[in-house]
Amino acid sequence: MDFKLSDDSLAMQASTHKVVNHLLEYEQHFHETNEVHKDVDETLREMGYYGLSIPEEFGGTPVDKVTLALIQMELARMPPQFWPSIRQALGPIPQLLLLHGTAKQKDKWLSRIAAGATACFALTEPDAGSDVGAMRTTAVKKGDRWVLEGAKTYISNAERGDLFLVFAKTDQSKGRDGVSAFLVEPTTAGFSMSKPIRTMGFMTNGVYGLTFDNCEIPAENLLGEENRGFYYAVSGLNEARVNVGCQALGGSQIAFEHALQYAKDRVTFGQPLSNHQVVQHMLADMAMEQHAARMLLLEAAWGLQTGVDVRLKSSYAKVFCTEVANRIADRALQIFGGAGYIKGMVVERVYRELRVMRIFEGANEIQRNMIAKQLLGD
Ligand SMILES: Cc1cc2nc3c(=O)[nH]c(=O)nc-3n(C[C@H](O)[C@H](O)[C@H](O)COP(=O)(O)OP(=O)(O)OC[C@H]3O[C@@H](n4cnc5c(N)ncnc54)[C@H](O)[C@@H]3O)c2cc1C
Repeated sequence: MDFKLSDDSLAMQASTHKVVNHLLEYEQHFHETNEVHKDVDETLREMGYYGLSIPEEFGGTPVDKVTLALIQMELARMPPQFWPSIRQALGPIPQLLLLHGTAKQKDKWLSRIAAGATACFALTEPDAGSDVGAMRTTAVKKGDRWVLEGAKTYISNAERGDLFLVFAKTDQSKGRDGVSAFLVEPTTAGFSMSKPIRTMGFMTNGVYGLTFDNCEIPAENLLGEENRGFYYAVSGLNEARVNVGCQALGGSQIAFEHALQYAKDRVTFGQPLSNHQVVQHMLADMAMEQHAARMLLLEAAWGLQTGVDVRLKSSYAKVFCTEVANRIADRALQIFGGAGYIKGMVVERVYRELRVMRIFEGANEIQRNMIAKQLLGD
């Protein structure tokens, strides 16, 4: 697959690089307080980063998928806590609304998301993570309402969620073919949220459990067709996997930049670390792997842009980029020695943040299962 980076794409990447370098000045404040300075979100909102996946008619400023990948790799040089709602806005929900939403659903939600509303993806359950078909949350039609019962877990950004895309069983006899998708607002009676489930990194407070207890929503809140929810989730995840690849490579890029500088500055045995061939080889390996992963990712993004089937390539990109990024973060921390293990150091932060990327948006083992299935044709 041939692709060329256009001047426009490169210009948007360069301008995002500058914005991010400016916002990185707030990282120390974040390390010290565990709070993101309000200027960070305000800057990103004003610059239109929420609307990059949303058509102009709904207030967005859409860019093509390759440009979106380049921009996300830049944004991901920042702590993930700096742009949680933007990650959701660039994720599957706007695309699913565009593809399957009614005119009313699109009008109501796309413009809000472009303006900074947070849309959360609620698929995982305590007993149904990788195995989506084991989902227990149900939705039963009663007149002009759907009644939801059940629980979700590990839901990102729920504390700021304005909209939840909730997947529930509408036909319990059918496994995956009995799942539907619903638009649920957190103010709905019967909807409740747990305290944050604290995590190793990535989220400021953690992730959240959701409970639906006789939670009634209007029939019109069904997204798309009944019993197609699993396929919507999976189709949305192709793009989400490319996005995770971008987030991983943004993290490893900033870790690499810090390690490269530190290797030049830190003196041991009377010379900079960068004079030791072992360190040079580590840096060379990091640069090579970062580049290879970036190429694979851009190829998958190009596939999304040109509308070809990217199931295989988005899985390749998700697995390869997240594993490369974890290796790079590990080497970067090693180059820093003890200093790399200290709270407040960028490499320490990246090392923790990247770990989850091999788990969410379809764990890497599941991606390998899917790749093997396609290769073996069964
Ligand atoms: C920080 C964080 C944020 C998250 N955000 C969201 C969110 O916003 N929305 C949401 O819906 N979910 C979210 N999740 C959930 C995430 O998508 C799941 O954790 C993930 O899908 C894995 O499911 P699980 O944890 O139940 O693991 P399990 O499915 O129990 O799997 C456990 C391990 O076994 C492996 N495994 C399972 N089955 C197989 C198999 N057949 N072959 C080989 N290996 C297998 C898995 O790869 C994994 O390593 C989040 C999770 C975290 C940690």
